Formats: sequence, structure tokens, C-alpha cells
Amino acid sequence: MEQIQNYIGGELVEPASQGYLENFEPATGEVYSLIADSDERDVEAAAAAAKAAFPAWSTTSSEERFAILMRLCGLIERDLEILAQAESRDNGKPITLARTIDIPRAVANFRFYATAAMHLANESHDTVGRNAINYTLRQPLGVVGCISPWNLPLYLFTWKIAPAIAAGCTVVAKPSEVTPMTAQLLSKLCIEAGLPAGVLNIVHGLGPKVGSAIVGHRDTKAISFTGGTKTGEEIARTAAPMFKKLSLELGGKNPNIIFADCNYEEMLATSVRSSFSNQGEICLCGSRIFVERPLYDRFRNDFVERVKALKVGDPADDGTDVGAIVSKQHFDKIMSYIELAKKEGGEILTGGNSILFPAETRNHKGWFIEPTVIEGLPFDCRTNQEEIFGPVVTIQPFDSEEEVLGYANSVRYGLSATVWTENLSRAHRMAASLESGIVWINCWLLRDLRTPFGGLKDSGVGREGGFEAVRFFTEEKNVCVKISSE
Ligand code: NDP
Repeated sequence: MEQIQNYIGGELVEPASQGYLENFEPATGEVYSLIADSDERDVEAAAAAAKAAFPAWSTTSSEERFAILMRLCGLIERDLEILAQAESRDNGKPITLARTIDIPRAVANFRFYATAAMHLANESHDTVGRNAINYTLRQPLGVVGCISPWNLPLYLFTWKIAPAIAAGCTVVAKPSEVTPMTAQLLSKLCIEAGLPAGVLNIVHGLGPKVGSAIVGHRDTKAISFTGGTKTGEEIARTAAPMFKKLSLELGGKNPNIIFADCNYEEMLATSVRSSFSNQGEICLCGSRIFVERPLYDRFRNDFVERVKALKVGDPADDGTDVGAIVSKQHFDKIMSYIELAKKEGGEILTGGNSILFPAETRNHKGWFIEPTVIEGLPFDCRTNQEEIFGPVVTIQPFDSEEEVLGYANSVRYGLSATVWTENLSRAHRMAASLESGIVWINCWLLRDLRTPFGGLKDSGVGREGGFEAVRFFTEEKNVCVKISSE
């Protein structure tokens, strides 16, 4: 069985423990590979390799950094199908999604930050009347830690690694232990692309062992983390007293707000996508749908009909809309929330069950859940307040902007929100009043890599994306030069 190894000092190496964890394929429920069960000894080795690589990498010309990262882009593009299959198999997501979104986005991340490396600049200020020039010197931080979750494995992993490397930092990274395969393939491509040894080090294994060792390591100067809010709290507890720079992209419970004057067909098609793409396992999915009362019955009937038509099945099939849930543990969590919703008085309009495929199919032990739509729940019940992170949405009517803003902003999270309306003034009013890091008006998941991204409230601190991300991995010095004593 394939063994997923650590990538340390430019080589694929065994974990110090020589132990391995089982890696499951969600669509079959079977173990299909083994992952290095690393610990603080492997993190120590990775941090040492990163530290040794830093002086040369941080002084490598931006043209050369650009060239290496662009070579890596080319190799990811060359292996797109292999990577898409690995991602789909590891995560349970439909292959079409991995092929059209996740892997192309990994290429886009490296390309964007390769070019960003060419445009890094320091400002200078003429201190008029004082005969001095002040300039801001931005220098790469050193060794940094990047920790990512299982839902968009390569996409989010590269979104952190690319700006860090482009800025001149060296990296100790950990993908989620639940979905390690694309990171393993990336290690091999980094070797092929000629990325110098130690610039990127990938340590596989469990969060509480490997992740916390990266966060607590004296040499990691910054931690860029995407994952759950509870894990983010733990990381902040360790990193804050060590005065590390922190970027935390955490959970969400996002509202999808639909006014009666919206472009109905576009809203309907997009709302199905924003609810159930990637089995609802995208931090930006809209899991609470609020519909203005005059449109409510029409929306409810059409939405349920469209959701019923979604094809749940083998992620490897091109025709599958909704694949498998990433792990048995997460499957159990989602099913327990569906039970909770019933106890809280919710009515299941469609879905609500796990799916058992016939015994003769390869999916008969896989973890599948029907796309589920629930109505009749108050905005402040647990189902509507806690992150479920699965194919489960609630729908609820509203009568005024004020009322729906109260519902939307009632949660501890503030990651994203969507608003559907053709009323321009209302769209801007809503955008200004919604407590969300990103507000989509008449669209969803439309991203421009130049814009800063991140959450408000308990959805995190710091921003990723754009130049912000490169700057995050630098430290700023102010240099003041007196140019004349007169
Ligand atoms: P987790 O917080 O469980 O894990 C994220 C990563 O942190 C994993 O690599 C995990 O390792 C690691 N980890 C776990 N414990 C620790 C620790 N004590 N110290 C350091 N690292 C640790 O999140 P999930 O993987 O379950 O991902 C789902 C969550 O991610 C959801 O809440 C979702 O909303 C959020 N998310 C947020 C996004 C955003 O942009 N704001 C985007 C995508 C997802 P291991 O897997 O081994 O436990």
C-alpha cells in the first residue's frame, strides 16, 4: 500500500516514529494508503531544514523565485488529471469539481504569487524640512508555519505556501491528516521543479502532535492557519505569548439572503450550488437561507425540486453532483445535527438520511448523506447557530431588511454572506450592515485573488489573498537617514 512520506530538506523521508496512520477513501470507507505518523522530532528536522535554507532563499533574486514557481505551475498543469483524481479520492468530492476548481486554483495561486514576488517594493518618504529620508524595508520573516484543513486540500494549502515562498520565507507546512495525498504529489513536483532543498517542508500527521509542534516551535515566526474556530483558539493561545504573527481563517455559518425582486433563475441555480457544492463542505457555503415572504412558497417548492434532482454518487463519476462526506467522524457529526434539527422542531423538506448503495457497488461502505433542506426552525436555535459543514441548509421567511439583518448577524461567525436583489441602494445598505468578511451581491464564490480575504468575529483574524498575504510573511523596518546636517 502506498506510503505518504514527509518532505524534509528536499527529500521524501520516513517519520521518526516509523509509524503510519490509515488514510481512508470516503467513497468506499476503505483504507487505501498510509500516512506518516509524525511528531515533534519530524517538525524539529523540518524547522532545521527550513532555517538552513532561509539565508540563500531570502536572497535569491525575485526573477529566480518567479522562474521556479512558474515551473511548478507548469508541472501542476501537466499533472492536473492525476492531482484531480487524487483529490477526489482523498476527499470524496466530485472529480469534476477537483478538475475544474481545486487544481486549477492551485495553479492560479502559484502563478499569482510568482508574479507578486516580482512586484514587491519598499516605499520611501522624503521628510521635507528635516533633511531626512525615511524608508520602509520589508524583509522576509524567516521560517513560517502553514496549516490547512481537509475541505479544499491543495487549493488552501497552496494559498498559504505560495505567498510565503514568494516573499522569501521558508516553510514548515502540515496538510490535514484526513486528506494528505495531493500534498504528497506536490512534494514530488517541487523536487522536479528544482525548488531548493528546505524551502518547503511538509510534515504529515495529526494536528495535536504535528500542528501544535509547528505552532509552538521557537523558530516559526508566523502561523498561517485555516481550520475550525476551536483549533484557531488553541493556536492563538500558544502563539500569542510567543509574539508570532498570526493569520487565522476559521469557521462560518453564512447567510444567503433572497429578496423578492431578485433575478430568480440565476438566484435559484446559484443557491443550489452555494448550498451543496463540495457536499456543503466549503467554509463559504450559505447554510442559512432567508427568503422575503412574497417569494417564499415559490422558492421553497422550486428549490426542493432542484435539490431532489442532484445526483449523489461515486465522486469518480463525471455525472456526480454530490460526493461522499470526508470522514466517518464528520459523517456522524452531520447526521447528529440532522437529528438535532428534528428535535428542535425542524421539518425536513427533502433529504435527512444517509445513503446506502447496493452491496455489489464499490460505494456500499462509503459515507454519503442526502442533500437536506429543513424549514420551521427559529434563527437562534443550535441548528441555525452552529457550523454543520455538510449538505444541510435551513430556509426561513422574513418581512423586512431590519429583521433579516438581525437573523443574519445573530451568529458568532462572520465569514461570508450573499444577497440577492436588483435594488442597488438596498444591495449597498445590506453590504455595509452585514457582519461578514466578504459579501457577494447576486453571485457566490466569485473571487479575485487581488482582494484581501478573511472573516470577522469568530471567523478569524488577518487577511489572506492579494498583496496582504505576501506582506504578512514579511517584517517591516523603518530606516531614517539624515542626508544633511543643515
Ligand atoms: P481543524 O481545525 O480540525 O483542522 C485544520 C488543521 O489544523 C488540520 O491540518 C488539523 O490537523 C490541524 N490541527 C488540529 N488540531 C491542531 C492543533 N492543536 N494545533 C495545530 N494544528 C492543529 O479543521 P478541519 O480540518 O475540520 O476543517 C474544517 C474547518 O475549517 C471548518 O470549520 C471550516 O469552516 C474551516 N475552514 C475555514 C476556511 C476559511 O477560509 N475561513 C476555509 C476552509 C475551511 P488534523 O487534520 O490532523 O486534525
